Amino acid sequence: MNYCSTNNKGVSSTFREAVIKGIADDGGLFIPSFIPKLPTLFFDSIEKYSLQEIALEVAKNFIENEIPNNEIKRIVDKSISFDSPLFKISENISILELFYGPTLAFKDFGARFMANVLSYLVNDENQQVTILVATSGDTGSAVANGFYRVEGINVIILYPSKKISEIQEKQLTTFGENITALEIDGTFDDCQRLVKTAFVDKDITREMKLSSANSINIARLIPQTFYYFKSFADLKYKKRKIVFSVPSGNLGNLTAGLIAKKMGLPVHKFIAASNINDIFPKYLNSSNFEPKTSIKTISNAMDVGNPSNFARIISLYNNDYQKIHKEIYGDSFTDEETILSIQELYSKNKYIIDPHGAIGYLALLNYLKLSKDKDIDGVVLETAHPSKFYDVVNSAININIEIPESVKIIMQKEKKSISISSNYSEFKELLLRK
Ligand SMILES: *Cc1c(COP(=O)(O)O)cnc(C)c1O
Repeated sequence: MNYCSTNNKGVSSTFREAVIKGIADDGGLFIPSFIPKLPTLFFDSIEKYSLQEIALEVAKNFIENEIPNNEIKRIVDKSISFDSPLFKISENISILELFYGPTLAFKDFGARFMANVLSYLVNDENQQVTILVATSGDTGSAVANGFYRVEGINVIILYPSKKISEIQEKQLTTFGENITALEIDGTFDDCQRLVKTAFVDKDITREMKLSSANSINIARLIPQTFYYFKSFADLKYKKRKIVFSVPSGNLGNLTAGLIAKKMGLPVHKFIAASNINDIFPKYLNSSNFEPKTSIKTISNAMDVGNPSNFARIISLYNNDYQKIHKEIYGDSFTDEETILSIQELYSKNKYIIDPHGAIGYLALLNYLKLSKDKDIDGVVLETAHPSKFYDVVNSAININIEIPESVKIIMQKEKKSISISSNYSEFKELLLRK
């Protein structure tokens, strides 16, 4: 499988190059040069496969010839060591629970898979790689968890001091060993600036091999296709039209769904559900893509003003707005609506949902109303466990939500972080000393 840049379909890279570089030389994102169709036989018998078996069949297509099949299987089994069950809340709506990974968010799928792929690729070359990652909360913990004790890899996480939740901070700062947490006296944007500057600083790149682990890495996208296939397998017996509602920020999750469809997965429609950072729903309704500064909301993992995977979506559809418009319905919601939705789901269906999933649920309800199609099975992607957003959910429905055991253990551990200012020189010195 070859990968090209979203800026130039003519230049191609191997899977190895695409994963290690993270971003193409021309600044574009890597995307498969063509999307392979899976055999009909696979879809005919898919309900017999486990999530991990499906993952292996799907992943092979993207990594063909570059990692042996037995190694891909080992990577899949090690990374995707949890399931993605559907929880039925009504006759035609299910919640796809993507929070059974160690950091309780769907980002565990991508981060753990990428970690194990990268570890295989660098060990194969006998090199030491330093991963720099700026986080506003969820990405950092999933990445840290995925790379913890992975040989050949050091991880440096930059997070904005006092701007992430206590759970998130503990999830980042309690590892030690090959994981270093830097507490930056600044904002998330400062963290991102420091990382970007280091990547183009020759003094640093001469000394160490840097790699990024953010959502643009192609190795994070591939594993996010797996659970779309698994949901189809779980719903296949109903023989209805499947609609996925995807709470969206940087659009990585949605892009993975679109790729799954191109591989042959029969999906009737995708829904891009956003908070008031509604850049993509606005594009779907107007064909104008206008990035903005992000606005803070209670569904903070979707506070994105310039969604990075937009470039991949338009590339997948050759910039054909009409096609994209036909495939995806977009909708956006305020914090007030989000809270009402959390309350309604709890009072009517006894289901506790997190603020991101709540937005997906609202968008699905709107779509079902609009389409009037009785033959639809709606699936809402629940992207995080409600306890990750304890304060919001708790104050919305006024009950003590259960905190998973794994989180209780982390909360007991000691925070280990290095505090630095947001000055580049201080960060650089620290990197060179490491
Ligand atoms: C990252 C994240 C999202 C947004 O996913 P994208 O792939 O960036 O669109 C939604 N919900 C949660 C909980 C997240 O952590």
